[in-house]
Amino acid sequence: MRHKKITIVGAGNVGSTTAQLIAEKNLADVVLTDIVEGVPQGKALDIQEACSLWHSSAKVTGTNSYDSTADSDIVVITAGLARKPGMSRDDLLKSNAQIIREAARNIARTSPDSVVIVVTNPMDAMAHLTQKVTNFPHHRVIGMGGVLDSARMRSFIAQELDVLPEDVQTTVLGSHGDLMVPMPRLTMAGGKCITDILTKLKIEEIIERTKNGGAEIVKLLKTGSAYYTPAASVVEMIENILETKNDILSCSVYLDGEYGIKGVYVGVPVKLSPRGLESIIVLELTEEEKQALNTSSEAVRKLIEKIGF
Ligand code: NAD
Repeated sequence: MRHKKITIVGAGNVGSTTAQLIAEKNLADVVLTDIVEGVPQGKALDIQEACSLWHSSAKVTGTNSYDSTADSDIVVITAGLARKPGMSRDDLLKSNAQIIREAARNIARTSPDSVVIVVTNPMDAMAHLTQKVTNFPHHRVIGMGGVLDSARMRSFIAQELDVLPEDVQTTVLGSHGDLMVPMPRLTMAGGKCITDILTKLKIEEIIERTKNGGAEIVKLLKTGSAYYTPAASVVEMIENILETKNDILSCSVYLDGEYGIKGVYVGVPVKLSPRGLESIIVLELTEEEKQALNTSSEAVRKLIEKIGF
């Protein structure tokens, strides 16, 4: 059977770690592309050589040209600037919008049937821009944010309760930023809702830490932002698109009236499939949760207006 082909645009920290995980799991052939000469080629060669130790038959190549990325099944956009200490994701808007415009034009030309996963921040607005520029159907452009935010929240809860992270299920809605909407009411640990086993204060602490999870790492690293969990989150989405996994994941998708929100990309629980977005799961929300999700989506709408869409 033909290996699937996945292109990663941007061979920086998130891009190259994503390529490594795809190759290590033998999920698909990988093409890494970047504007810096030699970097995607060098990293791809390094990963390709490791495939012999991983018993992986994935082909991994690096390029500075979109032509070698042609006919990819999935394209992951990680190109762009990452945050520095003190910067918010929204501070990256103008410079990254320029990079996304160029990447999206090239993807539409070379891989017109691909499913695109957008990682570059501010991610929800960049997913919107990618869809507009590629003119792909909305279901083929999806943003990565909620999987990462949920993974962070699960990890903090597992540490607090001294249980395995896999025994914790959680949902984080909303935009990927300070206005994300973690859902303690729907967060279970070892079969129990955390509102029954953790104090209100502890839950608030965990929610705050989840909201600032990216900033906590940026502050420690001083240059650059998190990439191990972001890359693992992208691969989780890829495995669901390729149907080697079948999960409900929080992803940024275009809402057309679901949750009472229209015309904006924002994080909600979804099922993925080879067509990209397969279906949106609409949860019953309390008034407070609805309001928080609205505030979050309105913030994305403002960013979209700033970039002229
Ligand atoms: P990085 O600086 O390590 O890598 C970015 C790469 O993009 C660099 O190699 C750079 O040369 C390349 N690049 C720049 N312009 C390009 C272009 N026009 N075409 C191709 N490549 C180009 O940064 P990183 O840590 O890998 O993060 C990448 C992006 O992902 C940032 O915007 C970051 O904020 C974002 N991010 C998002 C999430 C999320 O949850 N959505 C998580 C982590 C990082």
